[in-house]
Amino acid sequence: MAAPFPVATDVRIAGDEHQTRFILDLDKRISLRAFTLADPYRVVIDIPQVSFQINAGAGAAARGLVKAFRYGLVMPGGSRIVFDLSGPAKIKNAYGLDPANGQPARLVIDLESVDRTAFVQALAVESRPELRPAIGPVAVPPAVAALAAPKPANDARPVVVIDPGHGGIDNGTQSGGEAEKGLVLGFGIALRDRLEKAGKYRVVMTRTDDTFIPLGDRVKIARNQSAALFVSIHADALPKGEGDAQGATVYTLSDKASDSEAERLADSENKADAIGGVNLTEEPTDVADILIDLAQRETRAFSNRFARLVVGEMKTTARMHKHPLKSAGFRVLKAPDVPSVLIELGYVSNKEDLLQLQSESWRSKTVGAVAQAIDGFFSKKIVSAGPKN
Ligand code: ZN
Repeated sequence: MAAPFPVATDVRIAGDEHQTRFILDLDKRISLRAFTLADPYRVVIDIPQVSFQINAGAGAAARGLVKAFRYGLVMPGGSRIVFDLSGPAKIKNAYGLDPANGQPARLVIDLESVDRTAFVQALAVESRPELRPAIGPVAVPPAVAALAAPKPANDARPVVVIDPGHGGIDNGTQSGGEAEKGLVLGFGIALRDRLEKAGKYRVVMTRTDDTFIPLGDRVKIARNQSAALFVSIHADALPKGEGDAQGATVYTLSDKASDSEAERLADSENKADAIGGVNLTEEPTDVADILIDLAQRETRAFSNRFARLVVGEMKTTARMHKHPLKSAGFRVLKAPDVPSVLIELGYVSNKEDLLQLQSESWRSKTVGAVAQAIDGFFSKKIVSAGPKN
């Protein structure tokens, strides 16, 4: 398929820890916007949507100030490259070049090391509205579309938000050729189709393609849609040499992780924004703390009940983790007024789990189990509605 987008064909990094040059070869010249982020030190390059056809392992190559880099879609029409830096650096030059003298069109980024004080000063000036790519023929990204279109007044059905984890520049966990972001998107879409066919809920997806959606936006979608339920779909992996866990786990939000594995997982899932180059310091706090606290207590009770229902139903179709109900501080579960759970479908690092995750029939059965749990949640909720106790 001929991509309508500029194609990146090769990448080179040259230089040392004082000056480093990054060059991306393309089939046509593109515009860019580059800025830095601190803690950890990063450089983010926003460019129009590009089809990356470069070596899969290219991003792992460390050189000079660049410890590693990654790239991918952050929204329809917009790609992003993120460098992890080995220390504070400034962007000395950043420009696109037309093809010339037998050389292809190029994107050139020159980095120069600076001390932390200079880095932080530059940061204050250059990187305020950095959360969104400012470049490119920007179609309305799905997240914004969902934010802009609240629940229609004539639709009284409860809203269920399905949140396939990761996407775009953020691959999630990986095993062999299989990235978490693709597995969970497939599951999420199958679940949506199942629920829509039954017609009892209005289903909203946080993403339906390979696009990066910041964690805060996922929560915002749930809140803006006045969602009655938020279901985040993920798959886990254990780092090599840390045993061989298996099975599905259902997580709810908690200030205190239920065990060290839950804590490790929440930490790694919460890194999604850093991977996408989102500035973590911009945490919106638009509701007074006391209100959050009150709403949260009730929301958590609902979340816990739904989590138990999911475990009960999934048990019949999927291998479950030996402790399938856990809690930890997942940022994506933090809507104070929307019952939210995060389902880890299994471990891509475990051979049998991976086989299941890739199996059509397993997916169909397990989607059915989750749909069943959703039905159970709402039927009970309606019965117990009205004046409490
Ligand atoms: Zn994940």
